[in-house]
This record gives sequence, structure tokens and C-alpha cells, in this order.
Amino acid sequence: MPLREVVLFPDPRLKLVSKPIGEITDEIRMLAADMIEVMYDEPGIGLAAPQVGASVRMFVIDTEWSDDEVGRHPTVVLNPEISEREGRITWDEGCLSVPDYNAVVERDAKITLRGLDLEGKPIVERAEGLRAVCIQHEVDHLDGILFIDRISRLKRSLYVKKRRKQLAEEAAERHG
Ligand code: ZN
Repeated sequence: MPLREVVLFPDPRLKLVSKPIGEITDEIRMLAADMIEVMYDEPGIGLAAPQVGASVRMFVIDTEWSDDEVGRHPTVVLNPEISEREGRITWDEGCLSVPDYNAVVERDAKITLRGLDLEGKPIVERAEGLRAVCIQHEVDHLDGILFIDRISRLKRSLYVKKRRKQLAEEAAERHG
């Protein structure tokens, strides 16, 4: 089976607020497996379900993976919540759904992540630095928020312009 395609800005599906996961079905387990594959294939360090077109509250993350099977430790988190936020940090962020763009975003420096794993067991993780940034970025996706929604209006509008131009060029190429 081909990999699921990553949904790209400005696809309206990226703006949806995702639904909580009630029952952990085979469909959810398959979606998680697919998301892990897509994340390593792209490559990325995190991927939220809406980025493959599924509007459910789940993300996968692996902030320290190396390019061999043994170096891969993906964490799947269902119904994530962030609590106990402490301090502020800035980080240069990018996103698989926002092609060819990076920008510095301010976020909480230390957080506690709570959620469920694929067996329905609770996850509690204290995170800081890149890991904390990535978790906040992924949880944002579940609320329909992209990192470009957290930068200045001016920077955002410059990116939107650049992206429109890029899409117009792609369309022109397709039509020869
Ligand atoms: Zn993203």
C-alpha cells in the first residue's frame, strides 16, 4: 500500500478541531502505524492525524531517531493534554504541512504531557527543549492551529503569498 499523503497548507482540513478518540479500534491502530511510516519517510520528528487527513486526536513523535531501524522509538499519543507549563522558549520550527518554510515560535519551555497509548494506558511525560516544542506543535494541529498562526501577521502574509505563487507554478506545470 502506498503511504498516506501529507495534507498541505492551505488545505481546510488543517483548520479543523479534531475529535477525541473513544474506542481504540483497528482503524486507529492502522492509522497510527501509517502515521509512523509517513513520519520516518518524509522525514519528520512528529506528525498529527489531521496531517494525513484524519480528524482524530492522535499524534506520533520521535525527536531523537537515527536512520536505522534500531534507532527508532516512536511514541503514539491519543487524546493528549498539556499541563504544568513552565517558562518560555523560542525555537525555529517547520512543519511537513507547511512546505519550504521555517520561523521562530515562542512556546512553553517545560510541559507535562498526558494522554493514552495505543493500549489505552495512561502516558505522563515531562518534556523540555525540542521535545516540549514538538509536543505543543502537534497538539496545536489537533486544534486546527499551525505554527504560522503563531508568528507575526506580516511574516504569515509573506509566507501565504509565497505559497500561493508556488501552488500557481505547480498548477501551470501540470497544465504544460
Ligand atoms: Zn506540523
